[in-house]
Formats: sequence, structure tokens, C-alpha cells
Amino acid sequence: MTAEATVGVVGLGNMGQVLAANLAGAGLDVVAHDAAGPERAPAGVTFVNSADEVVRRATTVVLSLPDGAASAAVVDELLAADGRRTDLVIDTSTVGVRAAEALHARLQDEGVDLVDAPVSGGIAGAKSRTLLVMVAGTAAAVARAEPVLAGLSDRCHRVGDRPGLAQAMKLANNYCSAAALAATSEAVAFGLAAGLDLATMLDVLNAASGQSAATTDKFPNHVLTGRYAAGFAGRLMAKDVGLYLDEVEAAGGPHALADTTVALWRAFAAAEPDADFTRIFPFIESSG
Ligand code: NAD
Repeated sequence: MTAEATVGVVGLGNMGQVLAANLAGAGLDVVAHDAAGPERAPAGVTFVNSADEVVRRATTVVLSLPDGAASAAVVDELLAADGRRTDLVIDTSTVGVRAAEALHARLQDEGVDLVDAPVSGGIAGAKSRTLLVMVAGTAAAVARAEPVLAGLSDRCHRVGDRPGLAQAMKLANNYCSAAALAATSEAVAFGLAAGLDLATMLDVLNAASGQSAATTDKFPNHVLTGRYAAGFAGRLMAKDVGLYLDEVEAAGGPHALADTTVALWRAFAAAEPDADFTRIFPFIESSG
């Protein structure tokens, strides 16, 4: 990528606006678009009114979109645009394995590379540049994407040489995270009802074998404080674990615990569609 190259971002939601800010903060020229309008465009980023305009100006486009349907719709727009300069797409969205493979095939037919690059670490991780970017793509595509990946975060981990493998890694990670948060919520509800207090429970869980990102981060920072503002919607976690279960079922793998985990997250998302995912704790506590 040349110094004067422009990077595009499509999707300026909770995650995309921080990623766009990181790219601008790393000294890259950034143009961005979001269907909801310019309000979330961070300082130092040029908002444009369509995805068409992004692909006319940017050689590399980063996507941060809710799901596979949105990524496919934006890729269709991108490929249909007159005067397209874009020849590399980096999709940081969680879309699922088969959706990433389909996007890759569609882009490859038009001579555009795809780097599959879902992220983990939340908004706090994105802001502190500790977000883990899981990367899968051909060696050539990943090499071309490197300056932009380095702008997104200080932590990138290449997990495979074809798009879809980073999605498999991300779905496995989020299933672990979702199951641990749900299990911790039930265990804390049990402990509180038995007469323990939350701070004591977290101290002990974090010094013992019940420790997880739920006990080190979500509970102390969002449940104990009452903030419930991690910046990740529960409906997106329901989407992620649903994608995980779809992929496991398609592959004929074991999923007894995943069935229950998905049902729980879907019930939460249906009851509170816009709630932060850390609100799964009060949802579970009140469902007993
Ligand atoms: P979000 O719902 O806050 O933002 C999505 C944005 O995409 C919205 O601003 C929406 O207007 C925009 N959008 C949707 N369709 C569009 C289209 N066709 N054209 C242009 N813009 C469009 O979601 P988020 O929390 O920012 O998550 C984005 C992706 O990152 C998701 O796939 C999510 O699973 C993943 N992710 C999020 C987090 C997090 O902590 N928020 C963490 C890891 C991964």
C-alpha cells in the first residue's frame, strides 16, 4: 500500500467507529460510510454518503457490519460501483464460515481479495488497541492487508490461509465466551440467593478455577458497577452462538451444551433486543 492510498470503512457502529478512529490515529487517510448517517464518524475520518463513494476512493475497504447478509449486500454494492479502485476487502464482521467462503468466491470472481478478520476484545479492547484480530487469507492478500491490519490493532493472529478459518476460530471463541458468561450468571444468581455478596464471589472466582473473561471483565466492570455498557448487543451474541451451532450441526459435531446456550441467548435477545450483552445476568437472575 502506498503512502497516499486511502482506506475505506463501511459500518460505523459500536465497533466500526473505533476501528475507523484507530486507522486514522495510525496516520492512514480514511473515508467511511454507514447507512445510519454521519453521526458516528469519528474525528479525522471523512464521511461519504454511499458505499459506492468509498470504493471509488479507497484501494482497501474494511467492513464492520452486523452479519453475513449485511456484508454480502455491501460487497454487491462495492462490486457494482463504477470507477471502483478497491481490490482488497478486510471483513472484521462476524459472519460465519460459509458466509465468508461465499464472500471470498464472489470477490475472487471480480479480482478482489478477501481477508477474513473477525475481532475479539470488545470496544474497550479496540480503544486500547489490544483487540485480537483473527486473520485468514492467502499469504499475498494478508501481506497486502498488513498496513491496515496494523492500523486496526496491535494484536493480529493469522489462523489460516483461506477465508472462513478465522470465522471458525471466532465462532469457537464466542461460544466459549457466551457459555462462560451464562454459566457465571447462573452461578452468581445461586450464590447471591444463598447469601454471598457479589464482590466476594468475584474475588474468590478470580483466585480459583471458576475464572474467565466473565469474572475478570464483564462482571466487575459491568454487573458490579451497574454500568451494563460493554458496547456489544445481546442480539449480536445470539447471532454468534447461533452461527456456531449452525456450523457444528453442518459438520456433524457435538452440540449438547451449545443447544442450551443458544436457546438462552435467543430468549434474552427476544426479550431485550437492544440490551447490552452483559444484561444477560439480570435476565438470567430474574428467570429463576
Ligand atoms: P452495530 O450494530 O453497533 O453496528 C453495525 C453498523 O453497521 C450500524 O451502524 C449500521 O447502521 C451499519 N450498517 C448495517 N448495514 C449497513 C449497510 N448495508 N451499509 C452501511 N452500513 C450498514 O454492531 P457492532 O457492535 O459495531 O458490531 C459490528 C460487527 O463486529 C458485528 O459483526 C459484531 O458481531 C462484530 N463484533 C462486535 C464487537 C463489539 O464489542 N461490539 C466485538 C467483536 C465483534
